Order: sequence, then C-alpha cells, then structure tokens
Amino acid sequence: MLATAMSVAPTAHAAEPAAATPAHTAAEPATRKPAHKVAYLTFDDGPTAAYTPAVLEILARHRTKATFFMIGSQAERRPDLLRAVRAQGHAVGNHTFTHPNLTRSTPAQIASELARTDAALGHTTCLRPPGGSTDPRVHRIARAHGLTTVLWNVDTRDWTRPGASAITAAAVSPLTYRGRSPVILLHDGGGDRSQSVAALPGILRSLERQGYRFETLPACR
Ligand SMILES: [Zn+2]
Repeated sequence: MLATAMSVAPTAHAAEPAAATPAHTAAEPATRKPAHKVAYLTFDDGPTAAYTPAVLEILARHRTKATFFMIGSQAERRPDLLRAVRAQGHAVGNHTFTHPNLTRSTPAQIASELARTDAALGHTTCLRPPGGSTDPRVHRIARAHGLTTVLWNVDTRDWTRPGASAITAAAVSPLTYRGRSPVILLHDGGGDRSQSVAALPGILRSLERQGYRFETLPACR
C-alpha cells in the first residue's frame, strides 16, 4: 500500500506543470479571444501615386492596419493620398519635409523640417528620422515638438530591390524577431517600389499564419 502511494506521489507531482497548461488554455475560450501576437507594418517615403494606392488596396483586402511615415512635401502635393490613408484607419507619422539626414542638420533646420511636415500632415505624434539617423540632439528637438522617435527592428532592405520573395523572406523570418513584436520597415516611395508592393501579400499571409495581427504603432496617432 505504502509502496503504491509512494509511486503515485511523484506521478501526481510530475503532472502539475502539465496541468498548468490546460488550465491556462481553458481560460482562453472564456474570453472568446485567442491569444495573438502583434506586428507593425510601416511604410516610409510616401505618399506616392505610383505605390500608396496599391499598398492601401492590399491592406484593405487583408483588413489590416499599418503606419505610414510620410514626407511632408509629398503629402502637401497629394492631400488626396493622405486622406485615403487616414480614411482607412492607418496611422500617419512624420518623416520630415525634405528627407535630410537630421544628424547633419542645424537645430533650426530640424525644427523647420518637423513643423512644416506637421502642418502638411495635420498633427502627428511620432517621427521616423530619414535613414534612421538620429542622436540625442535630434531626439530632444523631436520631443520638444511632441514627437516620439520610432525606428524598426525588421529591415526588409526593400529599397535595394532584392526581389519580392527576398523582401517577403526578410520580413517574415521569426529568427529576426527574437520574441519582440516586429516593426517591419517597407517603402511606398523614394524610387521603384514595385517589389515592395509585390512582396506585401506574401508578408501578410505568412505572418497571419504565424498568428500575428497587424496594428498601428501605438506612438503614432
Ligand atoms: Zn525615408
């Protein structure tokens, strides 16, 4: 009897960690909301008539939200594209007015780049400095303008035009995330971005299969 009890005890203990998993899983159907991972698609250097509408169409088909870091001078020329992006519920961020390297700009130039873009876009709350070039001085001036600097952690290098499948592969490799929410850098302007557009459906399908949902960057409104 004692021997039986002793042999049962380790089994019961061993079962405890396993039991924690069903208990955790059981809580999920109660909320009727499966756990999901969040990914952030970001598009820089638009808006452009050539690529922004195509990107919007693909995102709409997938009922997906993204964040567009726009160049102020381009948005000023195409307010219709800015409106279309906003109308679909995407977030818009400041990507300066003329796309300079802000770390090589004077404080007055930086302030002008940010303010002119803000005027063109309407009020923005986030900045992506061109080329990701930033430093404490740029950061401080951005903060004074009410802008949070947002970079990325997944670089598709789509601007090098490596082919649509290479862009998709770079965007969807779980190895590049290391447990973080992916903030994926893509472009809808600044050159020939047909490969970026062609890569987008594959990026969406693959990440959806991996359990990701796409949201606008919380820092950008
Ligand atoms: Zn850019």
